[in-house]
Amino acid sequence: MIIVCIECGAEIEVPDDTMVGEIIVCPECGAELEVTSLDPPVAVLAPPVEEDWGE
Ligand SMILES: [Zn+2]
Repeated sequence: MIIVCIECGAEIEVPDDTMVGEIIVCPECGAELEVTSLDPPVAVLAPPVEEDWGE
């Protein structure tokens, strides 16, 4: 399955068993993309990860 990176337009090959909600990382630009649809395959930029866990 191919998902197009919305950041740089690269075609990213992902496993066919990829699920909606999975995060994939574009190998071209490093963008984190969240899969939002499988048919057709669509991914949007994942929200930034908060690294502050309150420790
Ligand atoms: Zn990209």
